Amino acid sequence: MHALSHADFLTLWEDGQGLHWLDRGLLAIQTLGPPSAGEEVADWSLGHRNQALAALHAQCFGPRMEGWTVCEGCGEKLEFRVDCRALIERQREGSSQPVLFKGRTFRPPTSRDLAHIAGERDAEAAALRLAGMCRSEGDEADAQDLASWTDWDFEELGEAITLADPLAEISLSLECPMCARTSPEPLDLPAFFWAELEAAAKRLLHEIHTLATAYGWSEAEILALSDARRATYLEMVRT
Ligand SMILES: [Zn+2]
Repeated sequence: MHALSHADFLTLWEDGQGLHWLDRGLLAIQTLGPPSAGEEVADWSLGHRNQALAALHAQCFGPRMEGWTVCEGCGEKLEFRVDCRALIERQREGSSQPVLFKGRTFRPPTSRDLAHIAGERDAEAAALRLAGMCRSEGDEADAQDLASWTDWDFEELGEAITLADPLAEISLSLECPMCARTSPEPLDLPAFFWAELEAAAKRLLHEIHTLATAYGWSEAEILALSDARRATYLEMVRT
C-alpha cells in the first residue's frame, strides 16, 4: 500500500463517479493497495476483498469505523463502531480454501461472480446461479443436481463457505436501547468505504473553495500545501 496525496484522493473519488458500488470498491483497492502481478481484484474472494478494504480504511481514515442505522422496530437511531483491525483478524481465521459439500467442491464467491448475478431479481435463482459458478467443473447432471437443492442446502453451503471466507458477509448485531429489539445489520464495506471517501473528498473541495476565494490561489497550489499550512490558512480565513 502506498500513501495517497490529496490530488490522488480527489482523482480516485472522481474516477468512481458513475461506477457501480461493486466496482468502486475494486477501484479503491486497485489504486491504493494493488494486487500482485497476474492477479485481479475482481477474482479475490469477497472476504479477501473486504479485508483489503478494512486495511485501506485503517490507512486512510483510521481503524475505527463509525456509522448509524435506524431501528426497524421503533425508528430510533442506532450508532455502531467497528474496529478494522478486528475485521482483518477475523478473515485470517478462515482457510480461504474451497469447501467440500454434498460431494462437490465450491470455492468462495468473488466480486466477479456477484457482478454476474447483479441483475437477478429472484433470490433463489441468484443463489442457484452463484452456486453453479462457484462449483468445481461439473457436467449437466451436476447442474440438475443443484436445481434439486432445497433452501436448507443452500443455507448449509453458505455456512460452510463463511467458515472458509469469514469476512465475505459482515453482519452487526445491534440492540435498540428504546425497544430492546435486536436486529442483524449488514455492513457493506465497499459502500461504507466509498461514503467515507466521498465525505473526505467533499471536505477537501470545500477547503480548496474557501482558500481559492480568499487568496485567489489555484487548486493545484492549494493541494500542494502541507496539511498544517492548509489548516492554518483556513483558520485565518474563518476567524
Ligand atoms: Zn427500537
